[in-house]
Amino acid sequence: MTRPPYAANCVVAGGSLVGLAAAIALSGLGISVTVLERTPSRAQAGGGGLGVDVALLQRVTGIGDEPPVVHGSDRDTTAWHLLQGWLEDHALRGGGITVHRGTQVTGVQPGDDRQPARVVTADGAEFPADLVIGADGARSTVRASVAPDDPDARYAGVLLWRTLVAEQALPDRVVRPRPGEPSREVYAGPYRLVTYLVPGAAGETGTGQRRLNLVWYDPEQGDLLRSRGLLAGQTIHGSLAPGDMPGPVRERLAAFAVANWPSPWREALALALADGTVFGTPIVHYKPRRLARGRVGLAGDAAHAASPMVGGGFREGLYDVAALARVMAGLTDSAAIPAALGRYQELRLGPAVRHVTVSERATAAYLARADVGPAR
Ligand SMILES: Cc1cc2nc3c(=O)[nH]c(=O)nc-3n(C[C@H](O)[C@H](O)[C@H](O)COP(=O)(O)OP(=O)(O)OC[C@H]3O[C@@H](n4cnc5c(N)ncnc54)[C@H](O)[C@@H]3O)c2cc1C
Repeated sequence: MTRPPYAANCVVAGGSLVGLAAAIALSGLGISVTVLERTPSRAQAGGGGLGVDVALLQRVTGIGDEPPVVHGSDRDTTAWHLLQGWLEDHALRGGGITVHRGTQVTGVQPGDDRQPARVVTADGAEFPADLVIGADGARSTVRASVAPDDPDARYAGVLLWRTLVAEQALPDRVVRPRPGEPSREVYAGPYRLVTYLVPGAAGETGTGQRRLNLVWYDPEQGDLLRSRGLLAGQTIHGSLAPGDMPGPVRERLAAFAVANWPSPWREALALALADGTVFGTPIVHYKPRRLARGRVGLAGDAAHAASPMVGGGFREGLYDVAALARVMAGLTDSAAIPAALGRYQELRLGPAVRHVTVSERATAAYLARADVGPAR
């Protein structure tokens, strides 16, 4: 680790994938990092799956070992909770990063070249910071300090029903996916199903110990979100936890799955719907006009929220982290941080806008196709 010739401290809001990757990369430059994460404890099994570019992750963070992944023939896949835990373990190992859990950021004063930024939390604590990274996800709080006139992501018109099902739980008669099984996508009626394998709950990757990851795109749940107070105007205020799916929706989806989705995914869905382990994630879009103000920079979904339909949300977040590390390397004075964040914005705003634009177009095309109606 190289020490910068000034004492720099950074507060990262959000201790998920991008926040922890940023913490590790900035700590590697000798910056002292405090991560503030709203959730009180680590998830042991929650969340869904995602594809991960292991080489990019290693390059950006400087970590030498691999997170638990299933090597599909098209890409490596993992579960969010496994990757988050792996990153948090690495963050805590080096000594330069402190993680405060159960700490919700409620506001940020961005500071300038003479004044530090200030991060305020729900318990009334204040954290002065030379640098603040807002990595608090698609429904970011920090974003309001960077883009006060455009702080909210917008509902994209699609809810994702998501679940992970252990291979062991499938009935014996059901043929398991082969090793190397690629990601698959299937369209039927207004719906899209995406499937791939991820490691077991403790990172197991052997056949019989993996989990089936299912993502069901559903464009018909705007009223449900509104009735639960999760959608007001275009703004999303939350997601549907496991068990929140109404009985009639569950019955309709279960019948549709049996009739339309391929084995073994339909059997996995039947189990998850019966167990109440399906949860709902609304897709949102956020196309940024800026990524930084004063001493605050946005990264990951806080900076640019897009649909997983176009893939690569985490990959874009890693590109953000690489750019942040590049502009922060070699600074000789904390007063230069706002200008460095200006360079970060120059590097990343264009790619972020392009990523979200591609997502908006793909989502519009999907919704137009979904409107056609009967099963295809
Ligand atoms: C179904 C699905 C599949 C996907 N597949 C892929 C894929 O294959 N490849 C890929 O690259 N990307 C994929 N993505 C996108 C990827 O998951 C996201 O881009 C990535 O997880 C974003 O990470 P993040 O750290 O920016 O945000 P998040 O993971 O949303 O984390 C935000 C963190 O901030 C915390 N937080 C929020 N508000 C506050 C606050 N006020 N104070 C403190 N903490 C706060 C939250 O608790 C959370 O821990 C997929 C996404 C979905 C939904």
